[in-house]
Amino acid sequence: MIVFELVLLVIGALFLVRSLTPISRLILELPDGSLKKRWKALSILILFFIAGYFIFAYNFWVLRDEQSILSIVASITLLLGGVFAYLVGQLALQTANDVKDIAILQHESITDALTSLRNRRYFDQRICEEVALSKRYKLPLTLMLLDVDYFKKINDTYGHTVGDDVLTNLAKLILEVVRDSDIVARYGGEEIAIITPNTSKQEAELLAERLRSIVEKTTVATICTTQEVVQVTVSIGLCSLSHVITDKEALLEETDQALYLAKKYGRNRVVVSNW
Ligand code: GH3
Ligand code: MG
Ligand code: MG
Repeated sequence: MIVFELVLLVIGALFLVRSLTPISRLILELPDGSLKKRWKALSILILFFIAGYFIFAYNFWVLRDEQSILSIVASITLLLGGVFAYLVGQLALQTANDVKDIAILQHESITDALTSLRNRRYFDQRICEEVALSKRYKLPLTLMLLDVDYFKKINDTYGHTVGDDVLTNLAKLILEVVRDSDIVARYGGEEIAIITPNTSKQEAELLAERLRSIVEKTTVATICTTQEVVQVTVSIGLCSLSHVITDKEALLEETDQALYLAKKYGRNRVVVSNW
């Protein structure tokens, strides 16, 4: 009978040892912090448990002539304890991986794959929220629409890949210029929307003018074969919430109209809506 109990204890201890594999992987993947410390503490406890199982087994062996029903119950319980630790380790690792996957999917669902800017879906959601917040707290809110001038010509002259590079570098440039609290999204093909919360029309106009001027002076792509530099200009339409422009639809329509006028008046300029 004693052999049966010893086998149960050894299997339990092996489950404990196996539980250390997912737990150590989890510890490696976790960032430094209290969660990592707690998983480390748990793995040290498991090491103590493993030592305890072998001490228990040794004790069984020494007292083999005085076996009782309790020793069977104890060895089964310890075996189940090992299985429990093993399952906890597996489930924790699986859950951590699932959480990571969900975070990646969430990020991808609101990110434009080419430019890494926020995408149109995110923009549509945020503009509603920002308009509501702005009206609720009576804060200014400005929207800009920026469109690359003669972008078709860039594609036709240098090819689509260069066109893509231009968009990617332009996106980086814009992110460097705006505030962290501003929301920059790819609105359409080569059209970029910038929501500037808590920003008046005058402040936003200065920002738009700075953006326009920086883009004009910056090389947004270089042709590998000829080392030719590619430069572009942008037109920007801008509109703020006001007593006339009171909702998202009107804000978008007026900003679009301002962009249309910027194109019409010759491009490479900022046009501010009169409303
Ligand atoms: P303008 O705005 O100054 O009136 O002229 P435009 O040449 O920029 O005119 P339009 O807005 O009509 O053209 C936009 C072009 O952008 C058409 C489309 O092929 C190109 N485009 C849209 N999305 C992408 C993209 O992801 N990559 C590349 N390379 N081109 C794109
Ligand atoms: Mg264009
Ligand atoms: Mg366009």
